Amino acid sequence: MNFVIKKNLLLEGKTKKIYNTNNPLEVLVQYKDNLTSMDGLKNKFLQDKGIINNEISTLIFKFINSCGIKTHFIRRINNREQLCHKVDIIPLEFVARNIVAGSMSKRLNIQEGIHLSNTIFEIFYKNDKLKDPLINDHHAVFLGIISYEELNTIYKIISNINNILKKYFLDKDIILVDFKIEFGKNYKNDILLSDEISPDSCRFWDKKTMKKLDKDPFRTGLKEEVLDIYMEILKRLNVR
Ligand code: UDP
Repeated sequence: MNFVIKKNLLLEGKTKKIYNTNNPLEVLVQYKDNLTSMDGLKNKFLQDKGIINNEISTLIFKFINSCGIKTHFIRRINNREQLCHKVDIIPLEFVARNIVAGSMSKRLNIQEGIHLSNTIFEIFYKNDKLKDPLINDHHAVFLGIISYEELNTIYKIISNINNILKKYFLDKDIILVDFKIEFGKNYKNDILLSDEISPDSCRFWDKKTMKKLDKDPFRTGLKEEVLDIYMEILKRLNVR
């Protein structure tokens, strides 16, 4: 295993910092203790949250890698950092929904909890000024962000990820309600699953009690509860 030297800060987002390393093709992703919602409007410090999310995201990315899906994740370096392939992030957030919740429930006035017979895919344009608007494939292509061919490839990957993660979590008595993922392109222009997968970016409901095991309590003001919930997710991922 090669020795990793952390170099300059490349980027700082709401919940992560990205550092260059001695290998120009690899970066260090560092998880911060911040918890955000409403496009970052609500941003709170929560001690050790970054450590828990690093562990959760590591377990999920290891599992996805083991299924043969290409991701940016190489390995966990320490309690806050992962070594990842360097990518240019495609400025789109892809959401997959198995059950109605969150913005879909509000936008269309549909009761939360309705099971969708077909998974619904949505695209949000990552643009802080515009507050990450919902767009469709044609907008994304028109904006010059992506091609139809790349979108096709991404939809296949998301569908695959959704199928394997639904089963992965159900084995741990967790229902995968919806999730947001991001993709990046490496130096060869390969599309890699990037960013993180954690209770920050997914909705998880307990299979037996339907309790929300994600960031939703924070969205409604219960900040302290979130750490216990995230620990519960980590415990379940580690146990079986
Ligand atoms: N999500 C995310 N980052 C965002 C917006 C949404 O990770 O900036 C995730 C969210 O946790 C949920 C899914 O994407 O699992 C769908 O979110 P939704 O569109 O319902 O928006 P929300 O009301 O959760 O902000």
